[in-house]
Amino acid sequence: MKTYQKIILTILLAAVASYLFGCMNYPVYTAADTLHENRPTVASLNLAYRDANRDFFYGGLPESKTKVALLDLTPQGWMGNTTQFTDGTWQIDIDIKSHPLEKEAEMTLIHEMCHQDSRISGADQGLDGHSGAFEACMVHVAERGGFKGLW
Ligand SMILES: [Zn+2]
Repeated sequence: MKTYQKIILTILLAAVASYLFGCMNYPVYTAADTLHENRPTVASLNLAYRDANRDFFYGGLPESKTKVALLDLTPQGWMGNTTQFTDGTWQIDIDIKSHPLEKEAEMTLIHEMCHQDSRISGADQGLDGHSGAFEACMVHVAERGGFKGLW
């Protein structure tokens, strides 16, 4: 084998090895990229609502009538809020400023879903909504791993 053939063969083998082992495909993340990727979005929170409804509420919450919104709730001093409108639809608001990470927003979302559950069942609405029924809901979710990785 001639020298130029060895050089070409070496280059070809390097290209094949690079392709097979993905040497050129390793992404380089910065801390800012990671934070951006983990920011909550309206779409991600609506998907999280659907999943939590299935996993922890047996699909019992009115998913088709509920929208999750990301808003600035700083003026009210709230992290989240749940509203039922007179037409039977619901809106769960999550404060965008106090939840820079998706997981944090999901924890507040589940908190609000327990408020929604308590209101629908009409169970024990005392104590500013954080009633015995609300506490039982949160414990139910926690026992099923709903807050795993969130706290
Ligand atoms: Zn609450």
